[in-house]
Amino acid sequence: MARRIETKCIHIVSEEAENAHYGAISYPIYQTATFSHKGVGQSSGYDYTRLQNPTKEQLEKTVAQLENGTDAFAFTSGMAAIDCLMELFEPNDNIISDSDLYGGSIRLFQNVSAKNKLEFTSIDCYKENIEDYIKENTKAIFIETPTNPMMNVTDIAKTAEIARAHNLMLIVDNTFLSPYFSNPLDLGADVVVHSGTKYLGGHNDTLSGFLVTKRADIAERLAFMIKTTGAGLAPFDSWLILRGIKTLGIRMERAQENAFKIAQWLKEQSAVTKVIYPGLPEHPGYEIMKKQARGFGAMITFQVKDKEFAESILNRVRLIRFAESLGGVETLITYPTTQTHADVPEEIRIKNGITDSTLRLSVGIENVEDLIDELEKVFGELEGK
Ligand SMILES: *Cc1c(COP(=O)(O)O)cnc(C)c1O
Repeated sequence: MARRIETKCIHIVSEEAENAHYGAISYPIYQTATFSHKGVGQSSGYDYTRLQNPTKEQLEKTVAQLENGTDAFAFTSGMAAIDCLMELFEPNDNIISDSDLYGGSIRLFQNVSAKNKLEFTSIDCYKENIEDYIKENTKAIFIETPTNPMMNVTDIAKTAEIARAHNLMLIVDNTFLSPYFSNPLDLGADVVVHSGTKYLGGHNDTLSGFLVTKRADIAERLAFMIKTTGAGLAPFDSWLILRGIKTLGIRMERAQENAFKIAQWLKEQSAVTKVIYPGLPEHPGYEIMKKQARGFGAMITFQVKDKEFAESILNRVRLIRFAESLGGVETLITYPTTQTHADVPEEIRIKNGITDSTLRLSVGIENVEDLIDELEKVFGELEGK
């Protein structure tokens, strides 16, 4: 019987005997670098942790199952995952990438992948006609939806159709929604990327990254690459992420519920000039979100009246922490212009609408009244109320 996602976060469909690992309910941490052999040609199935480790494998099976993929690969960070993925391409290959990606992805593409002669065409995938940009050497389309931080929503199924027609690999960074709200492979994507540091881990206590696919050819190449280049996630970190995933469902539900209320509150503030949350019906991507995802997530970007106001908020918040990252139980406020997107060239930043009065909230699972109380206090102080 097909299991539902909350259950899949906690149990993997496994052929294991029920009493494996002495019946341990929490999967053991195999904190070992290597595995012994009984004799020549007799492997336990594990030889060396860079090649595979049972705890990492358990995590990979869990994430593959959550994304309806056949294979998942766990990396030391989201960036390590994307970097390894870029190894599938050859010099002079062209990749069409969304212009409003996570800043670290843009930095990687422009400074590392470009050095390896990969060529990137950066466009607004949510509104431009992608087909106009496909060239003879184009091999892939790389998108995020909603994008970081401007929350642009791209139609995944439509993009997948274009990718299929031109034999391109469609890569979707699904970090913002997590597999709880969205499964891009079901909509035709070839590879799903996650920064597991965010919602999958969920506790701001460790980094990780994932690549997930259901294409055997891609899985085979990634399996070779991860063991060869060595950025696989360590056993203890794998266990932390496994533990985080168990509560993914209830965390996502609560964070989203809080985000709706905070987005509404922000809309009522005269110092807030714009609230960008895809769960608001006026968001241009709202209908596409409703069609392709099971929720809207808990990331809110908003603009305040000026730079001074933005900086004063960051200086005054205490319960809400001024920090990069997202997707954890703690509510964080980020200043994209000096933090996550500092290395994105200024002209691209401005074109994308990221200014020095843009703030990004990753809404956590605290009591929302406490979060709003703090925002009320900070806004009140700043407006002299
Ligand atoms: C954080 C993030 C990454 C990078 O992940 P790390 O785990 O920090 O290396 C990639 N994509 C998105 C959308 C992110 O938010």
